[in-house]
Amino acid sequence: MKQNFVIGYPLKQSLSPLLHNHIYSLLNLQMKLEAKEIKNLDILIDNIHEKNIQLTAVTLPFKEEIIKYLDWIHPTAQEAKAVNTVIRKANKLYGFNTDIDGIAFAFKNICLHSKKILVIGAGGAARALGLFLKKQNSEIYWYNRNPNKARKLIAEFTGNIVENLISVDNNFDIIINTTPIGMYPNISDTPLPNMNFNKSQIIFDMIYNPQMTKFLKCAEKQGCKIITGLEMFIGQALKQIELITGKHLVDDQNIIKEAYKILM
Ligand code: NAP
Repeated sequence: MKQNFVIGYPLKQSLSPLLHNHIYSLLNLQMKLEAKEIKNLDILIDNIHEKNIQLTAVTLPFKEEIIKYLDWIHPTAQEAKAVNTVIRKANKLYGFNTDIDGIAFAFKNICLHSKKILVIGAGGAARALGLFLKKQNSEIYWYNRNPNKARKLIAEFTGNIVENLISVDNNFDIIINTTPIGMYPNISDTPLPNMNFNKSQIIFDMIYNPQMTKFLKCAEKQGCKIITGLEMFIGQALKQIELITGKHLVDDQNIIKEAYKILM
């Protein structure tokens, strides 16, 4: 049985082992993904080589720090300045960013061209989103509690700054939360103060624990289309498994159905 890793700190809440191991067994892969809570990347890199770990899924806080250990980085991951997947092949380490594939999966069948989009937050997930939205020619509006970080993303990925979130709710085609506001255990928090939506809006929350945040529940009640963080999570994981199997999974309806089933 080949071993893969998911690394990060803390890792207790990670759903990656559950999802990866379910898909491995459906594909008859003799593999197991193991959660490795680590604080030091030097030891981990030695471990990857010694144990011949083919796939390492990288989560917080290592998505940037891992870059210096890699022999090659995919251009998209280079642009995003973040790696969430390391593949070991012929003694070399290759870095990818499948969060962007996860975002594409979450937005499949939704046209983003020229859409007016409010992004709340300016951390790592917002950076992957910025790269994706720039390629879609969306009109991006950025809000972050530290506006300087939002301005940095504007310089890289285009867009405009939003100074405060009072009464902005109705002004955008799409609103996306990339902050942890509303994540377990603080499930009664919301990233927008008012949440007066109209039903033509699309509301996406990247949080997947809980799957239905207060933000999404409120949007759904008002008739909006909602996208949960689970969709992005499934998309990024399927792309990781594609990287080691060469199988095209993000359009495989049976695999997608199984992924939702095991996580719901
Ligand atoms: P990150 O790099 O730490 O960035 C967090 C962002 O949220 C920063 O802009 C930060 O603002 C802001 N923020 C944090 N706490 C806040 C608060 N109490 N009030 C206002 N703003 C706050 O984290 P990340 O990697 O981008 O992850 C962010 C969220 O996305 C997490 O909930 C994570 O679980 C989720 N995520 C989901 C997926 C998926 O597959 N669904 C993938 C990646 C991430 P400052 O800049 O001012 O500090």
